[in-house]
Amino acid sequence: MNSAVFCADIGGSFIKFGVSRRSGEVEECGKVPTPVASWQEFVGAMQYLIDTYGTDLPAGTPLAISTAGLVSPQTGEMLATNIPAFTGHSLANDLSVALERPVTAANDADCFALAEAHAGNAQHHSVVAAIILGTGVGGGLVINGQLVRGHGGVTGEWGHGAITRTELTLAGKHYAVPRLRCGCGQTGCLDMLGGARGMERLHQHFHHQENTSLDIVTGWLKGHPDCALTVNAWLELVAEPLALLINILGPSRIVAGGGLASAKELIAALDEKVRGGVLHTYTEPLLIPGKFLTDGGLVGASVLGRMQS
Ligand SMILES: [Zn+2]
Repeated sequence: MNSAVFCADIGGSFIKFGVSRRSGEVEECGKVPTPVASWQEFVGAMQYLIDTYGTDLPAGTPLAISTAGLVSPQTGEMLATNIPAFTGHSLANDLSVALERPVTAANDADCFALAEAHAGNAQHHSVVAAIILGTGVGGGLVINGQLVRGHGGVTGEWGHGAITRTELTLAGKHYAVPRLRCGCGQTGCLDMLGGARGMERLHQHFHHQENTSLDIVTGWLKGHPDCALTVNAWLELVAEPLALLINILGPSRIVAGGGLASAKELIAALDEKVRGGVLHTYTEPLLIPGKFLTDGGLVGASVLGRMQS
């Protein structure tokens, strides 16, 4: 199907807007601030983008959306969103009525997984897991090209659930694993230690130093001992639940997204670590950075929009 689809990646700060004329390809054409407080203003912003960038497209051209938070596949209702304007709305259904066109929406991690499975670094793989190592930890699952949208829209969310380790042994010394209260209401979730903020929290925990994850990874690559301790702890803590995810799903390719995925040496180290802890013997790299580290939302939305139109 080569008819056009409008694509939008809606974040807490900006709406990125594009037109896809072929599946897996998006021409990014506009960016406006997200009206986070008002549904009416949000609808107005979407109408403006469609009117501005869709003058050559037929009336009723579908719109596909990638956004943070969970989208219930049963009701379309938004859960755990950072955009108050969405509260109480079924994003896709209500926008479809307001904008007079088919609208579909999915979580940004799910869109990243779709983008990678259809047009990125996991093409031709039947079981594709995407892991997001961003501010926190998220994920998505695509099987035989289809996005798996579990009960309540929750699939592949391996960041929530307590880390079982209470202690780490690194370079012959023992360290307690911090157990932090997570935004989901539980205590000890991987989400609090496994993303970029998590790495920074670990560094603070071990060394009482405030450093960015970029500084820590750079220091690790340069052989700085404090940074090496933090990254080695991070690798231990992330590899264990990731190995469990691999044993459960049996992916032939895992793509990493989010800010930490830009550090290819870090992803390679995590890949090596995790392949040492799973049942199946993977002789090739299993975990690699994604192709769409910055535009996975828009590209994944373009795939989603075509599947549902
Ligand atoms: Zn949690």
